[in-house]
Amino acid sequence: MTLEGKSLIGQQAVAGNSSAIHAVNPATGEQLDPAYAGGSAAEVDKAAQLAWDAFDAYRETSLEDRAVFLETVASEIEAIGDDLIQRAVAETGLPQARIEGERGRTCGQLRLFAKVVRAGEWLDVRVDPAMPDRQPMPRADLRQRHIALGPVAVFGASNFPLAFSVAGGDTASALAAGCPVIVKAHSAHPGTSELVGRAVQKAVAKCGLPEGVFSVLFGSGREVGAGLVADQRIKAVGFTGSRSGGTALMKIAQQRKEPIPVYAEMSSINPVFPLPAALKARGEAMAEGFVASLNMGAGQFCTNPGLVIAEKGEALDAFVAKAGEVLKGSASQTMLTPGIFDAYQQGVGRLSSHDKVREVARGQVGETPNQCQSGLFVTAAADFLADEALQEEVFGSTSLVIECADAAEVKQVAEHLEGQLTVTLQMDDADLDAARALLPTLERKAGRVLVNGWPTGVEVCHAMVHGGPYPATSDSRTTSVGSAAIFRFLRPVCYQAMPEGLLPEALKESNPLGLKRLDDGQRES
Ligand code: NAP
Repeated sequence: MTLEGKSLIGQQAVAGNSSAIHAVNPATGEQLDPAYAGGSAAEVDKAAQLAWDAFDAYRETSLEDRAVFLETVASEIEAIGDDLIQRAVAETGLPQARIEGERGRTCGQLRLFAKVVRAGEWLDVRVDPAMPDRQPMPRADLRQRHIALGPVAVFGASNFPLAFSVAGGDTASALAAGCPVIVKAHSAHPGTSELVGRAVQKAVAKCGLPEGVFSVLFGSGREVGAGLVADQRIKAVGFTGSRSGGTALMKIAQQRKEPIPVYAEMSSINPVFPLPAALKARGEAMAEGFVASLNMGAGQFCTNPGLVIAEKGEALDAFVAKAGEVLKGSASQTMLTPGIFDAYQQGVGRLSSHDKVREVARGQVGETPNQCQSGLFVTAAADFLADEALQEEVFGSTSLVIECADAAEVKQVAEHLEGQLTVTLQMDDADLDAARALLPTLERKAGRVLVNGWPTGVEVCHAMVHGGPYPATSDSRTTSVGSAAIFRFLRPVCYQAMPEGLLPEALKESNPLGLKRLDDGQRES
């Protein structure tokens, strides 16, 4: 498929007038064609108007039609074939198998949301029938359903060029909720974004939906991205990226005449707590699992285990020695962009030049551009507690081990942590009491608490929570992965004393959609 280098606004391909963006192959430094003409206020305005025009019709599409649309998007992405895989590999430096897996996850996600839409439970229908004879006051008939928030701006993530980009989790959940989507494509993979954008465009046309249901804009975050978030027709934002980017967008959203929710996933260092009995019994095997998780995808995962917190002693020494030995042999890997590589080098530099931090090991040095050399460092709990900067995310394969004097200090460090996407307990039966003592703190700190696994590898399912207190995300009440992500883009509306003929299908007394409802407080079976 020939790439045109234009924004896709509704069914049109539009060239912007701002500075052009070129993808760079991070493995070679080679610039990739075509140039992507950057959008500006004019493109934001056009896409926002189309999205607004499409909103009322799209949010009232039938459950079946919307589900078929999501499935058609998945089929159209698969139909691109090898062109998509090759372009994504060239733009990200990620291995082909990873990109193929990500395509599977992306299409699986879309199909999962199709099932969720069909089931209709997200409408959360509640009916409180009228009680005309109630004393001292009668009760009117009250009915509630959820409706879509409105057009959503989605920022594609650099580290998931498919699964969290143009047709990724944020887009799938917003479309499932009935929201038109305008994507601000990530500048690191514009060709991948165009290919996927065209697939969604085709699905919109095939399904006979209003064209404004979907647009994808190229351009700078500060111009196109900020412009979208400030636009009064945009009603919510999905973002994955840096803390500075996420907080800048939160600020814009809060300063609008009508503030809107920003669901930003920003930074997390995903602490792992090896508890004493487990550390003693299987510290070396644990070290191997830990390094494998740390090195996955050059550590460019939001769930990368960037912190290990444990009681000091022989068992922790053995764990650190083994992890260092394994890590020393680990091959370097290409990072996603020169900018992310530079940020990684600076982060590692901050640790290696810190006078209270000791370097345990570094991985193999790479010979091609933008190579991530893994790193393992150690510091004492007191020094970690004294320096907030040691909690800063180093995005890549580097982790810091915190040596604690005893269980009380482990808990003190846990209490000191910022919000996280995940926390992990490595534990055996003999650690149950220690785990029980830590658990209330861990629940307050993270969206997902794991036992005897590793945080990388996020299942897309119904029970998943990929979220957590700030700065892991901007809103700890939700998840960006899994079917519950749809609730970010919905709000409840109550219909009081509305005649049957005016009620939406989901709320009609005759229940034509066959939905399970909460009827006068009783869940229908
Ligand atoms: P980023 O710099 O935050 O960029 C993400 C998106 O937001 C891009 O489209 C960018 O636009 C836009 N943006 C950034 N700052 C903005 C601002 N002030 N106003 C409006 N839009 C803005 O993230 P990145 O490029 O993916 O990676 C940079 C760093 O983010 C990494 O080194 C890492 O530390 C962190 N990161 C974290 C995660 C995670 O999951 N925790 C994932 C990815 C990255 P442009 O196209 O203009 O750049």
